[in-house]
Amino acid sequence: MPEIRILTDRVANQIAAGEVVERPAAVAKELIENSLDAGAHKIEIEFRNGGKSYLRVEDDGSGMTADQALLSLERHATSKIRKASDLNEVQTFGFRGEALPSISSVSRFLLRTRTKKGQEGNEIFLNGGKMIHVKDCGMPVGTRIEVSHLFNSVPGRRKFLKTEATESTHIIHLAKLYALAHPQIEFSLIESGRTIFRSPVCKDTQERVREIFGKGLADVLAPITNRTDHLSLHGLVGKPGQSRSTRKEMLFFVNRRPVESKTITYAVLEAYHTYAPKGRFPPAILFLTINPELVDVNVHPAKREIRFRDEFKVRSFLIESLLARNKELAYHTQESAPEIQRELDRETGLMVPQIDSNAQEVYKNDQDAKNPISLNPQSTREPGVGSNLLTPQESKDSSGTTDGRYAKRIGARDSTNTIWRFLDRPHGDLAVFSSIDGIIYFHARAAYERVRFEQLEDTFQDTKNSDSQSLLFPESLELDGIDQKNLSQSLAALRLVGFELEEFGRNFFRVEGCPQWIDPGETIRFLKDFLEIARESGGGMNPERFAKEALVKKATNEHSYQKVFSDDEVIRLAETLLKCRNPYNCPKGKPTFYEIPRRDIENRFRRNL
Ligand code: ADP
Ligand code: MG
Repeated sequence: MPEIRILTDRVANQIAAGEVVERPAAVAKELIENSLDAGAHKIEIEFRNGGKSYLRVEDDGSGMTADQALLSLERHATSKIRKASDLNEVQTFGFRGEALPSISSVSRFLLRTRTKKGQEGNEIFLNGGKMIHVKDCGMPVGTRIEVSHLFNSVPGRRKFLKTEATESTHIIHLAKLYALAHPQIEFSLIESGRTIFRSPVCKDTQERVREIFGKGLADVLAPITNRTDHLSLHGLVGKPGQSRSTRKEMLFFVNRRPVESKTITYAVLEAYHTYAPKGRFPPAILFLTINPELVDVNVHPAKREIRFRDEFKVRSFLIESLLARNKELAYHTQESAPEIQRELDRETGLMVPQIDSNAQEVYKNDQDAKNPISLNPQSTREPGVGSNLLTPQESKDSSGTTDGRYAKRIGARDSTNTIWRFLDRPHGDLAVFSSIDGIIYFHARAAYERVRFEQLEDTFQDTKNSDSQSLLFPESLELDGIDQKNLSQSLAALRLVGFELEEFGRNFFRVEGCPQWIDPGETIRFLKDFLEIARESGGGMNPERFAKEALVKKATNEHSYQKVFSDDEVIRLAETLLKCRNPYNCPKGKPTFYEIPRRDIENRFRRNL
């Protein structure tokens, strides 16, 4: 029988290294986090060969004394926690005391460090966990760690490393994440002597985004903030109509730590449900701050994945915050439409949009010229847009008020007093308008779907708590165990949205009524679809979300839109669309219209119009 032995520290560290630092980016992460924990104001990261042959992280933080430096390489040596209960309130990134011993056991590891009080710096050099030397060295205050030949002594691990390009990508991504989360710290990243980014101290995240991702991304993002007693959120979200084909720009942080969290991802996708097309992802850089006691960061050895104690609360907080922000952003046309120049109005002393002489006509008698294209719902949106948006009666006073205070916003070819003037319908659902600032391309079907969706949504909101309609003949629903459990769980919520159903007997339900916004004949099918999705998502289906889904379906499937819209109908549609909460996207998130600004057209012709 083989003899039982206790592993030497060196072997134990090498084994642990496999978990803590499975790749160069993980080494970079541990070192950057240590620098942050040490209160650095400046962090420089350099690597070569995907970090496999060389990686350096240098900071101007607290540094370590000679004794501390030696101790930091011992297993379970940490200055950050003392007792297990401290774990519940860790404020630092590290606390396990495993990173340095692990990294130094599988590389050539050169540590140089100096504290403010220290006359000299200290240098420690290890190779594969073996101490080679300890000596004094010249060094500014701070710490500099160089890791070379990672995993050379453990060929088994080295084999698992990916190509240089892949490992580089990981390091770059990681460095960007930490730089994003800490705009108040100067960050530089250098690959083989080439600077990838060098960002000075920034005033906020948006400025940091501009520094490291470029103006392109920074310009399509808008800030978001919200807080409740236990949670606070800040960050940047895509303006309406912004979406990406990958999740690369969905970046989440909890207590400034970059995280992967299904809860957050799900919440974002849900909130953008009708703002971004299916299969596309909204850019969102979100920082959630939460009492550390309510997060479990200790799930994953590399602390990547986190778990919230109260997933539900976090999810609803995020969804509410994002939805509210989306709505606000959708109202603020100025942010996505071309900039409007303003000038002082002599008569009133107010700032008004600057009107070029060609457009004077448009505003001549318009008392509302102070803010002519404001889509602000408070000023123009009627309570409950009429349900029959294409009937002529509805269009008569669709300008919002009857006293003519608002100029007709959308007009026919020969009209003058308008914001958009209809020009033509060159192909199918495409309509073209001229606007004050350019040319509008308008998709009639997309617009119809958005208008219809919001009408249905309004009906849904209005009737949510009470109004149901009775089925002519009550129907019964027979379910298996899982469906029965899921339905029982959602019963209260389904009743809230207008279903009348009762459990009678084992696995049987009796359905007597349905909400106003669905056809009674579709009730059973709706409930069955609902249960199928609930089953797929492990029972966690929220009926309200499902109801929204159903509204989208209904708005996009209605037969009536198959018809060809007449010119007049297109004009009225545009009129109604502009009063929508989110006029920019159809319910599936695709654009309803876009504007080619006049200055773009002028650029193309390289002369003024
Ligand atoms: P942990 O971060 O979990 O405490 P590490 O192995 O990463 O464990 O680091 C061990 C200790 O070394 C830390 O607790 C800290 O006291 C010290 N240390 C590591 N890196 C630095 C640094 N860049 N500046 C100052 N002290 C450091
Ligand atoms: Mg650490």
